[in-house]
Amino acid sequence: MPAPERCRELACRLDSVRERVTTAARGCGRDPGDLTIIVVTKFFPASDVRALLQLGVRDFGENRHQEARAKFAEVRGTDETVPAVGTAPVLHFIGQVQTNKAAAVAAYADVVHAVDRPRLVRALEHGAARSGRQLRCLVQVDLADDALAPGRSGDTSRPELGRGGVTPGGLIGVADLIAESAHLQLGGVMAVAPLGADPDPAFTRLEDLSDRLRERHPGATWVSAGMSGDLEAAIRHGATHLRVGTAILGSRPVLR
Ligand SMILES: *Cc1c(COP(=O)(O)O)cnc(C)c1O
Repeated sequence: MPAPERCRELACRLDSVRERVTTAARGCGRDPGDLTIIVVTKFFPASDVRALLQLGVRDFGENRHQEARAKFAEVRGTDETVPAVGTAPVLHFIGQVQTNKAAAVAAYADVVHAVDRPRLVRALEHGAARSGRQLRCLVQVDLADDALAPGRSGDTSRPELGRGGVTPGGLIGVADLIAESAHLQLGGVMAVAPLGADPDPAFTRLEDLSDRLRERHPGATWVSAGMSGDLEAAIRHGATHLRVGTAILGSRPVLR
């Protein structure tokens, strides 16, 4: 286990995020129990994951393949802190997945949030089948204003988040492919609000797209949206799964 001091810090920050979520949900007439906080542990060690498990966290987010695989092999491994069956961690892969890494990711992740192209769907299905697993997939939608325009350049200001996602018009095509795949389950949609812009219009658009998707796929109820800085806005617009890193773990090292 990590130092007692770190445990207290994590407990304290987790409490305040839970309180933010409860307040935001009540503020717009939603049941806080309908919201899942995915704690994003990228860049932080397995000892933090163990501490969070002890604090009742089940859902974890990671965005880099090698780090995620090693960390959760360690957490799920055979040490004495491994939680009882039924309380095992659920691993959400929230980052971009390279097609040639998809089969490997499908072998350990429970949910893949950033599915945005047919080739990736096929690679994940292949990997899940080979590992004998079922994988829940969300379609990432690009909500930037220029996502509808041709020749978009991509946002390079936050490389750790990547710039991915189908244009809104491409959502149904990718969703249908997931739904048709025997080892994949269509969970819903995921998005990252454009950096530096008011998140409300972006999340409003995501909510509309989720409504449209559910007319066709009623089980695709997940809306993965909202991070440390904009989770209140996401909750106002129907988010079901919040991906929260910094507000709980603290700031990450800067990549150069
Ligand atoms: C890192 C990351 C998050 C968490 O962001 P914070 O601002 O630290 O809460 C959420 N979503 C994605 C896709 C991420 O890569």
